[in-house]
Amino acid sequence: MSEDLTLSIIKPNAVRNKKIGKIISIFEESNLKIKKAKLMTLNKSKAETFYKEHANKPFFDELVKFMTSGPIMVLVLEGTNAVEENRRLMGATNPAEAKNGTIRSLYADSMTENAVHGSDSQKSAHSEIAFFFNE
Ligand code: ATP
Ligand code: MG
Repeated sequence: MSEDLTLSIIKPNAVRNKKIGKIISIFEESNLKIKKAKLMTLNKSKAETFYKEHANKPFFDELVKFMTSGPIMVLVLEGTNAVEENRRLMGATNPAEAKNGTIRSLYADSMTENAVHGSDSQKSAHSEIAFFFNE
């Protein structure tokens, strides 16, 4: 059976709060395998491009400011149903609604500073992986 890929980002609040190791442990204890990882800092233009689907949302400026506020760790994860599996581990966007034990329930500080990103489809996983790793 073929394995899928997805893109994960450990966001600036989780890096600042020294949660990289805890979050990576959750991935390692799951069925997802870490294929690539790098620490980097997004500039404004790169963050705006990454979240361009949200350009018209009221939270866009706050989101870009947050995502450029410090280093992030970008990972490629591989496994069966990797997109869905990663989103299950992450929990709901709003940490108040995230199930106990999910990454966001443990490490989100707010709706914006919600610790992790995960691709929302195989198509976006493909383009997000290229965005970060094919440069
Ligand atoms: P991500 O794309 O980061 O994995 P998601 O797919 O769960 O998160 P999206 O709807 O794509 O959620 O929103 C992108 C990001 O924008 C969220 O993760 C969060 O950081 C921020 N965000 C979304 N909705 C709000 C909101 N109502 N208020 C503040 N920030 C928000
Ligand atoms: Mg999203």
